[in-house]
Amino acid sequence: MSNQQKAKSGSGIKVAIIVMLAIIVALIVIIAKISTDKPSSGDKVLVNTLPPDGTPGVLTAYPVNPTEVPADPTDDNGDPAGPTGAAPTEAASTQTAQPTATATKAPSGELKLVDYSGRVEHLFTHSLIAFPELAYPTDISNVEKVQNTYFIDCITVKEFKRIIQALYDDDYMLVNLNYVYEVVDGVPRLKKTFKFPEGKKPLVFSFDDTNYYSKKMGRGMIDKLILIDGKVGTYTKHADGTVVQGFDEEYIPILDRFVEEHPDFSFNGAKGMICVTGFDGILGYRTQRVSEGDGRTEADRQREIEAVKPIVQALKDTGWYFASHSYKHGVMENYGRDSMLDCATKFENEVKPLIGDTKIYVYPYGSWKRSSDGTTCPAPQKVLNDLGFEYFCSVGVTYYAKTRSDLGNIILSDRANVDGAAFVWFQDLFSKDEWEGTPRFNTINFREFYDDARNISYDDAVAAYKEWKGK
Ligand SMILES: [Zn+2]
Repeated sequence: MSNQQKAKSGSGIKVAIIVMLAIIVALIVIIAKISTDKPSSGDKVLVNTLPPDGTPGVLTAYPVNPTEVPADPTDDNGDPAGPTGAAPTEAASTQTAQPTATATKAPSGELKLVDYSGRVEHLFTHSLIAFPELAYPTDISNVEKVQNTYFIDCITVKEFKRIIQALYDDDYMLVNLNYVYEVVDGVPRLKKTFKFPEGKKPLVFSFDDTNYYSKKMGRGMIDKLILIDGKVGTYTKHADGTVVQGFDEEYIPILDRFVEEHPDFSFNGAKGMICVTGFDGILGYRTQRVSEGDGRTEADRQREIEAVKPIVQALKDTGWYFASHSYKHGVMENYGRDSMLDCATKFENEVKPLIGDTKIYVYPYGSWKRSSDGTTCPAPQKVLNDLGFEYFCSVGVTYYAKTRSDLGNIILSDRANVDGAAFVWFQDLFSKDEWEGTPRFNTINFREFYDDARNISYDDAVAAYKEWKGK
């Protein structure tokens, strides 16, 4: 072999080595990409793929449509506004979302705090659908599909992740609701200004019915929250005995991880507001009173109480906070003084010892009682006021929050529902503010975020919803 040939063959080997190295690097990049695209499953044991049991989910604990709240004729100023759940027609609060600029140095030195005087948006949803194959039946009509409780009231894990990313991209930052209001001379009112990071928009996110009701077991949600290595994770046991544990099935661990990765999505460590009832325990633990024929003993109950305590503590330690969603999840408009007192007292006795005190009350179904004469506090409302609740939350897609003298000087606010109904019907209301014609949650694109695991195409779902509602 000549020197030239040797040289040629040498450079051939070099080229081959370079090509091989390039291929290896490319493969590493592809594998890394796949593993980061895939939702991390924590220490999930197995993902169960049981078929749905065939019956459309029509359960009573959730509203059939939480956005359908009867309109309130007047608020304390006589404005025909108020939590309605319907499209607004009247002028909004004069607050704007523009932070004013009186700067002070943030403790961290990263985000400058300024006096914020704009609105505080409030979104809510329910527990996430972690196992869509159990929640969304395939063998029913399209209209029946969108009427399904789990379709209309819930979003999937995938949809939730897309939404929080969009909110983060739009400079929203989670804030604790207790931080944004104050009590002056015995009257709760929204703070006119408060310190908040410059350029960020405060957002309260609340989550209703974080109870994991017995009736909902096996229908797509997790069974309960648990601690895994000291962190709040989830536990679900499927019908075939498969157990799924991890951090990727419910809003709590998902948001915990999101804030870990994006600390500037959380002001002072705030996460979300967990709204619980009491009639079937909390967080998946049957802590409620033992009643005739429910097959439980007081010892069973005490075990559940002891089991849930460290979870509540871990939640509080990591920025989560609680609100009352009543004890029974009844429709307040049907309540008189005595039935309200019974419901509220049970919450005081059975739930508050577990979650601690809260001044925030979230009306089930968004239903609240109007005064008969427009000025006197309705009796069931007074029961709640007397127990110390100050801030009340209803449901409505448009912004509303103010002190209401006709309800006994409490703050009444609306929360925009991020759920299946919003996905198929409220895109416009989410993307712009009807009252001011300005962009609102304009990075939220429900069509884009829609999860095909709902087992009906987006367009078919919109059409079926329209048909159902006669719109
Ligand atoms: Zn509820």
